[in-house]
Amino acid sequence: MTLATDTGNETVRARPQYCPRCDTEYQPAAVAICESCLGPLEPAYLAERALPDRATIAERAPNLWRYREWLPFDGEPRWSRETGFTPLFEVPSLARLLGVARVWVKNDSVSHPSLSFKDRVVACAINAAAALGIDTIGCASTGNLANAVAAQAARAGLPAWIFVPEDLEPGKLVGTAIYGAHLVRIRGTYDDVNRLCARVADEFGWGVVNVNLRGYYGEGSKTMAFEIAEQLGWRLPTAVVVPMAGGSLITKIRKGFDEFRSAGLVDGKPPRLFGAQAAGCAPIVNLIEGGGDRVEPVVPRTIARSIAIGNPADGPRAARAIRETGGWAAAVTDEELVGGIRLLAEHAGVFTETAGGVTLAAALGLSGNGRLRADDEVVLCITGNGLKTVEAVGDVLTGAPVIAAKLGEVRELVRIAHEEVQP
Ligand SMILES: *Cc1c(COP(=O)(O)O)cnc(C)c1O
Ligand SMILES: [Zn+2]
Repeated sequence: MTLATDTGNETVRARPQYCPRCDTEYQPAAVAICESCLGPLEPAYLAERALPDRATIAERAPNLWRYREWLPFDGEPRWSRETGFTPLFEVPSLARLLGVARVWVKNDSVSHPSLSFKDRVVACAINAAAALGIDTIGCASTGNLANAVAAQAARAGLPAWIFVPEDLEPGKLVGTAIYGAHLVRIRGTYDDVNRLCARVADEFGWGVVNVNLRGYYGEGSKTMAFEIAEQLGWRLPTAVVVPMAGGSLITKIRKGFDEFRSAGLVDGKPPRLFGAQAAGCAPIVNLIEGGGDRVEPVVPRTIARSIAIGNPADGPRAARAIRETGGWAAAVTDEELVGGIRLLAEHAGVFTETAGGVTLAAALGLSGNGRLRADDEVVLCITGNGLKTVEAVGDVLTGAPVIAAKLGEVRELVRIAHEEVQP
């Protein structure tokens, strides 16, 4: 691999990794798969390390590094120090709509800097790259990861090579190219892109964030669980609804809740985890409903491109997280997800992208079939921003009248609007 000549900051060091399957240990490196058993590697933390208490965490700056003892580095993070700590807020009218006790939105649609939860994982990956002296980073992406890598690489002054399926939404493509990244569109599905990127990582020695840096990258997702627990006042909800693509986020949210429980920062039962997918690409939902333990890959057909992964790498682990917490999964049609986007905007004042529409629509389905219950306290993980997928909801514009700049015309519109409310 290429070593960066700029070693100006020696303070961020990557943790070693290990293979949970066969216990082999690995020195810090851009490697994500165990050589002996091909299992995915995970960062190794020292069990005896000092952990902060609630008050210590609460005093720290409002970003994801306030949980640094649970992130795979020693020393000071070098890049992306402002990411994380997005708003969590209660929406009583959604609780009424879902027929549950309480509902909160965890709003990563306003994540810094690229408006999706992928900023969390890239914040970890780019510090791993810095620690390992990697001078070029890249990714295989369904859109949001492309935006996050391009933005954070620009800030860090690193070249980025970004590979996406050819037919992504314009918002996602523009939101990558604007940062000056090398954006490459592949004729094929995300799964084709991902296979190519495994070979690209080997060939060029780059840090491909979700390929050879994946062990470090994935840990960033845990911070969504940490923030939910802290922002609820150091307690756990009873249910969390999470959109699933490769299945990593939901797996890591579970790990995050478990780590905070073992650290004594929260108590009570772990939340039941509920996975959401689009019906046009629902291999993990199929696994939950079908009851097996092997993912049956599908060819994605949905407008929810950001979560359209037909052969999810963490599918079996996601299914385990769902089953072992007593949760369930739901798939929704494209029409239902568009309804979900509109409902979230109208009730919560949050404009989310297609994946967020999937999350709310799935929550509706899960309350309809009794999986979410009247006494549940539910957090909806809203992971991306609607301005990136405006074409999904273009219809809302048809209702906006065009008038002359005359008060009389406004009077007429107001009269009609009142009549519509009270006929
Ligand atoms: C990537 C992504 C997810 C889920 O990702 P996993 O691969 O399951 O970790 C959810 N929502 C959005 C908007 C995403 O971009
Ligand atoms: Zn192994």
